[in-house]
Amino acid sequence: MHMRSVVFCSIWSIVAASFFLFTISDVTRVMGVVSNIGSTNGKPLVEVVGNPEVKNEFALSELHKLYLNRAHEEEHIFDKTNQHGTIATKKQYPPVVQLSNNQRLRILVTGGSGFVGSHLVDRLMLQGHEVTVMDNFFTGRRMNIEHWIGHPHFELIRHDVIEEYMMEVDQIYHLACPASPPHYQYNPVKTIKTSVMGTINMLGLAKRTRARMLLASTSEVYGDPDVHPQVETYWGNVNPIGPRACYDEGKRVAETLMFNYHKQGDVDIRVARIFNTFGPRMHENDGRVVSNFILQALRGDDMTIYGDGTSTRSFQFVHDLVDGLMALMNGDSIGPINIGNPEEYTMEEFAILIKRLTGSTSKIVKHPPTTDDPKKRKPDISKAKREINWEPKFGVEQGLKETIQYFQERLDQLEKGDYARLAP
Ligand code: NAD
Ligand code: UDP
Repeated sequence: MHMRSVVFCSIWSIVAASFFLFTISDVTRVMGVVSNIGSTNGKPLVEVVGNPEVKNEFALSELHKLYLNRAHEEEHIFDKTNQHGTIATKKQYPPVVQLSNNQRLRILVTGGSGFVGSHLVDRLMLQGHEVTVMDNFFTGRRMNIEHWIGHPHFELIRHDVIEEYMMEVDQIYHLACPASPPHYQYNPVKTIKTSVMGTINMLGLAKRTRARMLLASTSEVYGDPDVHPQVETYWGNVNPIGPRACYDEGKRVAETLMFNYHKQGDVDIRVARIFNTFGPRMHENDGRVVSNFILQALRGDDMTIYGDGTSTRSFQFVHDLVDGLMALMNGDSIGPINIGNPEEYTMEEFAILIKRLTGSTSKIVKHPPTTDDPKKRKPDISKAKREINWEPKFGVEQGLKETIQYFQERLDQLEKGDYARLAP
């Protein structure tokens, strides 16, 4: 064996061994669920994600390996030591828990190569399940899940959910749908087809296979709300013919379909109403406020507030959302349940916060507001606390620091000309 291969194998053995040490619930006993070092916004720094009650805990530092400091990962994928100028692959996978056959579920994640989906896939794979990602790569990217491609528990299907699909499955997380306003408004007819026909197809699959199906719905079902904070019993205030309607009304119909299939077809459903979520693997060009502000701040460009800066949003870090989705899927409540972090900011406050965290000298400038932009948004999460024992653990600042690091690394890759990794 080459010296280089020996070193490589040893490194991965150490990584694998330490991973197993840290993926078990012992991690909480070793480190505590949280530590008080470097607290952010009064919230202690989170070091472990997941829930000890459902034994799905992982050390945050282990998850970081899947999306931070990835510049050198090609060394682990490609063997450049051969002398013929060709590149041999020697892919190694993150270690996963070994489940018995009756514990290991077949889980479909539609939209699994997107921002939220890929983090969910990481957690399900690490837990030892068999995961199938179904995605048409409209906004999703192979790079978000490439560390699993080829793994015996993992399957990637390029497929559009508006077409039927047959497979055998135990659980379906139905996330396929563009989520950022520029992306879902790019082809509004396609967006509403994705929500409506995609959800019908997945419900048909769930009905035939008797799988449990979770819909990733949205706080947008509340529209421009006149109830604040938003409770699940509020029916919303949506303009049915405005530019956001393809998404908002699409998700409202998707929810209706979920409940109709449940009542009429006895399908086992779960409905999550997700509030604004951010984190690593957000698309650089998705036009959402978090990615826009961070990239503008890092590049020294003007930070663009749409409107007078007084409209509000409440932001949750992606790992909290994944915990919430898994708690809902594996609990008894069918929902709808709000999953969000009630930490609320005006857009002006949020721009100032990101400017401070990035140390940027960017100017904060105001642009005209966009049509039908909701003026405020904040989840009431009492139902989530009561029914699925979930609440967010991350302070917004901790999540933002990670996200800033992620975007900085992406910009560095761009500067080095690593366009392949930046391509959609
Ligand atoms: P994203 O755009 O990163 O991911 C969506 C994924 O769905 C992508 O991989 C995309 O390629 C795929 N997709 C889109 N149309 C498809 C189709 N017709 N067939 C197959 N795949 C398709 O968005 P995200 O932020 O990860 O959002 C995931 C889900 O969560 C969406 O359903 C979204 O509505 C919901 N949600 C997200 C947020 C948020 O703040 N991120 C808030 C509320 C709801
Ligand atoms: N926004 C902004 N500047 C930007 C992008 C967005 O001020 O560069 C505002 C947007 O008008 C909205 C809020 O930020 O009031 C959140 O927008 P985002 O697109 O992230 O999510 P959504 O509107 O779907 O909640």
